[in-house]
Amino acid sequence: MRGNISLGKIFGIPLRLHYTWFIIFALVTSSLVLYPLVEPPYPPIEQRIISGILTSLLFFASIITHELAHSILAIRNNIPVKEITLFVFGGVSQITKEATHPRAELLIAIVGPLTSLALAGIFYGLHLLLAGTQQILAASLMQWLAWINVFLAAFNLIPGFPLDGGRIFRALVWRKTQDYHKATRIATKVGQGIAYALIAGGIALILIFRLWSNGMWLIFIGWFLSDAARASYQQILLRDALAGVTARQVTDYGSPLIPPHMNLMELVQQYVLPTGRTCFLVSWGAELEGMVTLQQIKKVPRTRWAITSVQDIMTPASKLKVAYADEDLLSVLQDMNGESAEHIPVIEAGNVVGIINREDIARFLRTRAEFGASSTPR
Ligand SMILES: [Zn+2]
Repeated sequence: MRGNISLGKIFGIPLRLHYTWFIIFALVTSSLVLYPLVEPPYPPIEQRIISGILTSLLFFASIITHELAHSILAIRNNIPVKEITLFVFGGVSQITKEATHPRAELLIAIVGPLTSLALAGIFYGLHLLLAGTQQILAASLMQWLAWINVFLAAFNLIPGFPLDGGRIFRALVWRKTQDYHKATRIATKVGQGIAYALIAGGIALILIFRLWSNGMWLIFIGWFLSDAARASYQQILLRDALAGVTARQVTDYGSPLIPPHMNLMELVQQYVLPTGRTCFLVSWGAELEGMVTLQQIKKVPRTRWAITSVQDIMTPASKLKVAYADEDLLSVLQDMNGESAEHIPVIEAGNVVGIINREDIARFLRTRAEFGASSTPR
């Protein structure tokens, strides 16, 4: 996914931060510093800044704990978790496949809000412990953290897919109808409806009651929810459209293999200009050595083309993600999205056999939709 920063791994699960998180971090920290939650006289500014940042970090840790709870339960139910992405209002655990049974889906979904409630209990306990001491600021920040975790639990329980509440709702509809696709469609529609209701409510708060900041928050949450519902529904449609499709089916086997020692002048004259291709596989024998793109060539001044070899500027194989010919196309696409890659080399029996271009996947989907609409479950 674009706009994400990698934070390393926790329990073997890659953790990523969506850039919107910095907005929330800045908002939370600055509001805690400016409005310290205690009666004046306020503590000194340095103390407020340090405790503001610490509280934001604990808020952040609360969200990670919530997501880890989902992930751990998913793994227990034999569903691999690809990564956890932290968004504005929490995180999204990228679970690679959906639960195969409504009961597993229900458990995975409900454990998140339950974890947030447990954290709220712990923070409230700390608040009570600190309340009798001199640490008035710390006590009130613990209380704030308790409330924010209650809010997180409540927010995530909104029955709008893909929030936890929406997943719980989908699991219940799924159990009742025994139809996974129908349940997903209903849960997404309900999620979209709730999102529009929140936006309308926000507008009403502003226009009728002049409650600007509350209204803006509702609109913001509604917009976020509507966006998330749309994105996850598209993801599901894509998953359906790509079901059973392997990398082999979209591999461009006609992609030429460039020897690593060829110079850029030769590459441009013999391959770039005649073929119009923008990305080339570099190989020695049948083994993948690397990949070179038009952008990389263009970075080298023309006067140096004759003395620069392909291997000097290529991305070496050790730094490339590769696809395997019999791999699911969906997983290839997820890898490409993760790297923001437009091209990926395809390997079969240890040899490089071709390349997958993002535009080929799009074309494949369009053609399949035109001719084989019935093969795409709707
Ligand atoms: Zn959750």
